[in-house]
Amino acid sequence: MDALLTEIRDCRACAAHLPLGPRPVVQTSATARLLLVGQAPSVTVHTTGVPWNDKSGEQLRRWLGIDREVFYDATRVALMPMGFCYPGRGTSGDLPPRRECAELWQARLLAEMKQVELTLLIGQYAQRHFLGAARKAGVTETVEAFAEYGPRFIPLPHPSPRNTGWFKHHPWFESDVLPVLRERVRQALAQR
Ligand code: SF4
Repeated sequence: MDALLTEIRDCRACAAHLPLGPRPVVQTSATARLLLVGQAPSVTVHTTGVPWNDKSGEQLRRWLGIDREVFYDATRVALMPMGFCYPGRGTSGDLPPRRECAELWQARLLAEMKQVELTLLIGQYAQRHFLGAARKAGVTETVEAFAEYGPRFIPLPHPSPRNTGWFKHHPWFESDVLPVLRERVRQALAQR
């Protein structure tokens, strides 16, 4: 795993398309039990080099019911976005994760993570990639059908503050999904 992470840190495969240059942000280990597959680093994450080190990360940790100490313990929690480097900004927010990243690195990383019990699919890119044809029409419908994807996966919306309106309009997420999510996370992390 260490050699693979060193290779990833040196990656410049799509450097020509990255406005701030390559800075892969990924956290993992061979013993991780919980895997979070997100989208791509924000500018804040790119700047600090720490995954989910922003408002979205604060919200995500609240959803999971875990603090920063557990969240950043690579022996227990793996943080692997669909794209490891900040992709730049488009007209309506950050650009999608670079496709090259999953093609180059994802299968190799997953092959080294043999103890993952639960994978959280955060947002449309992770859900499209991992659920394929089992994915519903959109993120809302896919998250609403979360029970269909267990025990291996739980699909989630992106915890960005930009999605505050979505959370207000879909109260079932807080009342129905989050209690199950917290219990599944607790169970996955309890197995050592
Ligand atoms: S986004 Fe992925 S493929 Fe592109 S330079 Fe960064 S690590 Fe390499």
